[in-house]
Amino acid sequence: MHRRTLLKLAAMSAIGVPPAEASTKSNPAPSIRNSEPTTMNHVIIIGGSFAGLAAALQLGRARRNVIVLDTGLQRNRFAGRSHGVLGHDDKPPSDILAVARQQLARYPAIRMVNARADGVSGTIDNFSVVTGDGETLSARRLILSYGVVDQMPNVPGFAENWGTSVIPCPYCDGFEVADQHWGLVWSGPQSMNQVRLFKDWTDRLTVFGNGHDITADIRTDLAGRQVPLVDGRITEIARQGSHGAIIKMDTGPDVAVDILFAHPRNKPSATLHDALGLATVNTPTGIALKTDERRETSMPGIYAAGDLSNPGIPSVTTATWQGAMAGIFAQQSMLI
Ligand SMILES: Cc1cc2nc3c(=O)[nH]c(=O)nc-3n(C[C@H](O)[C@H](O)[C@H](O)COP(=O)(O)OP(=O)(O)OC[C@H]3O[C@@H](n4cnc5c(N)ncnc54)[C@H](O)[C@@H]3O)c2cc1C
Repeated sequence: MHRRTLLKLAAMSAIGVPPAEASTKSNPAPSIRNSEPTTMNHVIIIGGSFAGLAAALQLGRARRNVIVLDTGLQRNRFAGRSHGVLGHDDKPPSDILAVARQQLARYPAIRMVNARADGVSGTIDNFSVVTGDGETLSARRLILSYGVVDQMPNVPGFAENWGTSVIPCPYCDGFEVADQHWGLVWSGPQSMNQVRLFKDWTDRLTVFGNGHDITADIRTDLAGRQVPLVDGRITEIARQGSHGAIIKMDTGPDVAVDILFAHPRNKPSATLHDALGLATVNTPTGIALKTDERRETSMPGIYAAGDLSNPGIPSVTTATWQGAMAGIFAQQSMLI
């Protein structure tokens, strides 16, 4: 067997990925690391939050030169505390990231840059990234981990209470409000899954139709579960206490809940993937970059991780797992 193939298989099995699962894509033509120009980094990571820093950690430990570009606006910055993250449960999200950055500082190959990536061009082994400061950086591989932005509806009080009285995820914050009166803003047929899911946390749920055309079947299902449905549109959300909310309706009386769950649409935090023409998949609330099992996007040499490329259940844990995988597979794609 060819020496390069043997090396690749050895590296794959070292992290528990059986060779049979490896991508059938051939590795790019190897280049000799020692003869690379010093300005050519191995990897540029765009977005330095949970996914991006997890990628940087693996690459830095493998002594690959990495630049992490970040604008410091992680998705859960509206939440006081982050939950469900092993070893970091119930900590402010900014504290978790601060510890991560501190730990990355001991790896000389990692350079953290507080800047926005404004433009991306090139192909595998020779990508260029232009920052908001006008600097042009080069790298053989890119990892896109710039996350998504939740699109706040034009309802007074929604954006103001996002992360406190209005939240998206029961795994993130459900335990703290278990057995209380929950509200759910209907966002489509997928909301019925939430109704079923929430039962593990509370028996007191009210659904707000918010102008959606809810079918007779669903109405019957909700009634059978003793889940009241409030028709009409939400006109305002007023905070009550630390996490409660008064929901004001265009018709009918106000409704008080202890917490309101909502799933607004989201969009990627940047449009770099559009400029590159990367393939995407639809999700119930937006789009996600399409990746293969090695987290490579539709363009060779560009990897993606975190909410930007997660059509499933976004979380800090999945973002860090995907980031670590993107870092490892980007590194392994450069083996000689
Ligand atoms: C209200 C709320 C509460 C949540 N609570 C929890 C919780 O308790 N537990 C949990 O596991 N998950 C929670 N989540 C989900 C969690 O926030 C995300 O899954 C996680 O942040 C995804 O990490 P990421 O690295 O993919 O993206 P993000 O954390 O969103 O980071 C993306 C980074 O990229 C940067 N960036 C964007 N554009 C550019 C650019 N052009 N150039 C450079 N940098 C750029 C941003 O500034 C940001 O720092 C919550 C989400 C919300 C909305």
